[in-house]
Amino acid sequence: MSPTTVNTFDLSGKVAIVTGSNTGLGAAMAVALAAAGCDIVGVSRAHAGATAARVEALGRRFADVRADLASIASVDDIVRAALEAFGRIDVLVNNAGIIRREDALEFGEDDWDAVMDVNLKSLFFLSQAAARQFVRQRSGGKIINVASMLSFQGGVRVASYTASKSGVLGLTRLLANEWAARRINVNAIAPGYMATANTAALREDAQRNEEILGRIPAGRWGVPDDLAGPVVFLASSASDYVHGHTLAVDGGWLAR
Ligand code: NAP
Repeated sequence: MSPTTVNTFDLSGKVAIVTGSNTGLGAAMAVALAAAGCDIVGVSRAHAGATAARVEALGRRFADVRADLASIASVDDIVRAALEAFGRIDVLVNNAGIIRREDALEFGEDDWDAVMDVNLKSLFFLSQAAARQFVRQRSGGKIINVASMLSFQGGVRVASYTASKSGVLGLTRLLANEWAARRINVNAIAPGYMATANTAALREDAQRNEEILGRIPAGRWGVPDDLAGPVVFLASSASDYVHGHTLAVDGGWLAR
């Protein structure tokens, strides 16, 4: 690669908001963005101590913002906190997400609303708040949503999760259509089966674990660091002409 090509992945001086950055995939993406040069605004309900320490060890700054994305009441506060901490926003990673498992015949309204509120409604309104700031800054910006294999497939026993993640794929396209001309790139990453708290129940079920592993061409569960390269690519100028795309990072799962 020429030096020019390499430099397009440089994020020095950029500010990234990462929701759910205290653990799992969000922590890995926050650290990857920091390694590429970003200061990080981490959003979660719990303390983000370990991620903050990893970001600061890389010489970047970390602002710990506590917010509950079960409601959209805090989306403007999140943007305000980012501006107070670092003065601008360049990247938003909508990673926070939850899952509820139940047969569709039994699935309850609480499990529907809880998942849709965090995974889809807050994602939209936080994207809107960030995009308004990108427009005020006249800077353009990058929004990276976290989708799922269930943006492409149906799954079982996860009705609201499938609806929300299929919605994430559609919204990613809609927002790209509306905002591409404003130099705002909206794309998504669809992780495959990754070893985090979110999938602990699947890995503990020996039969499900074997079934899942058996159809992953790469022959292993994904790990959070598998998202490092893709998130830096989608946050950087290397992806300036990529709009509305959902990038599967799945060890080949969808290719089967
Ligand atoms: P995880 O370890 O369970 O982490 C979920 C994150 O979301 C945590 O940081 C959590 O922080 C945050 N969060 C949940 N509810 C929240 C709320 N109400 N307000 C603010 N933050 C909230 O899961 P993960 O595997 O890293 O998943 C991250 C994303 O990837 C999710 O969107 C998930 O659907 C998606 N995904 C995961 C996989 C996988 O195989 N692991 C595959 C496809 C997609 P707090 O609870 O501390 O607030």
